[in-house]
Amino acid sequence: MSEHAPFPCDTLVRCGWLLPQDRSDPDRAALRDHGLALREGRVVQLGPWDALSSCWRAAETLDLSGCLVLPGLVNAHTHASMTLFRGLADDLPLMQWLTERIWPIEKRLTREMVRLGALLACAEMLATGTTCFADMYLYEDEVARAVDASGMRAVLSEGILGTPTKTYDTPEEACELARAHHAAWQDHPRVRFCVAAHTVYTTSVEIAARSLAVARDLDAPWMIHLAESAQETERCVERFGMRPLACLERAGVLEEGGRCLLVHCVDLDADEQARLAASGAHVCHNPRSNFKLANGLAPMAGLDALGANLCLGTDGAASNNGLNMFAEMGAAALGAKARELDPTVLPAQRVLDMATLGGAAALAWPELGSLAPGGAADLTALDLSRPGLLPLYNPTSHAVYAAHGGEVRLTMVAGRALYRDGTFPDLDYPALLRETESMRDWIAARVA
Ligand SMILES: [Zn+2]
Repeated sequence: MSEHAPFPCDTLVRCGWLLPQDRSDPDRAALRDHGLALREGRVVQLGPWDALSSCWRAAETLDLSGCLVLPGLVNAHTHASMTLFRGLADDLPLMQWLTERIWPIEKRLTREMVRLGALLACAEMLATGTTCFADMYLYEDEVARAVDASGMRAVLSEGILGTPTKTYDTPEEACELARAHHAAWQDHPRVRFCVAAHTVYTTSVEIAARSLAVARDLDAPWMIHLAESAQETERCVERFGMRPLACLERAGVLEEGGRCLLVHCVDLDADEQARLAASGAHVCHNPRSNFKLANGLAPMAGLDALGANLCLGTDGAASNNGLNMFAEMGAAALGAKARELDPTVLPAQRVLDMATLGGAAALAWPELGSLAPGGAADLTALDLSRPGLLPLYNPTSHAVYAAHGGEVRLTMVAGRALYRDGTFPDLDYPALLRETESMRDWIAARVA
């Protein structure tokens, strides 16, 4: 940093390697020995380190010259508070897992469980490079407070079901709750609310349409789990006489296109894939959850070839069992190749796009997903001295295929380091550990 540099900024970040994920660069060039100037939570300039550091006078300089710096990852689908159910029930089919194990403990769900689980989720995501996530659960105002405290970003939703829950009795009340959350948080710089219907088989075509109208009215994204398994398709055909995507078409979802985020999209035939891609709706892939619950391999290569906007999510920790987007990127790439018996589909760069630019587009938050002047100063840094990342020929390859998330040295949101060398400067992590242990005992006693 030059003392005579003319322009003041908050932070200069020196990057050994930088993957800016510039959406205007079709090659997504990787840059060597570059840097970022950050001011008021945003990137103000990106350039070769020597030139950049002589232009800017910074309050703090972060030396990440031994790291690969990339935009903070966007986890486009999770149920953050379900971290408390991690490892509670494994190796069961989806419907048995839901009805016999997850729903009974969720009947005892409290505000405290939601708050604590969400805070734990934020810590886990920050430690593995995620800076923004989309969430669907109950007591979502508690999740909002946890996200606010953690310093992360999120797009949150009270999941609308057709049956009474802990937070509402009817879908009408659920829609009102969605409006109230949206109104209460609309001025927050990092926490946003959207609208979500759980699935069409746990609601109805009419409830899907009504909740979508609320999202349109609020000009907010709308999310739903869609075609997660062949069993879901059977239930829809039995109940509505239509497959899941046809139900959503009846509800007007495909006409709404880019407002809609359709999660899972495993059981789609070729014609449904084409209709979905043509609509402009976003598709969120959750490969590890799909693998673990044996729901199958979603047709991501086909949807990619059709030009659909793809993004990536972890789903909840009860079915994954983590919220680690590096693990999810690897699973997405490998799963697509295994499904198509073709190693050329869903290459590393496409998968990194899903975890960054694709998620930002799906959540209607264009300042995220890349490191470009004017965009958010949300980034993560992988330690390139770790044996599993040596040697380095192609940083994108390492981010998708070699990194497992444990190499993250630093994660920053809006210019603030929220995770740094194993510590969380804004969180009381020892207290979080203690509270999680006592919540574990409370849950274990009730499950037994
Ligand atoms: Zn889910």
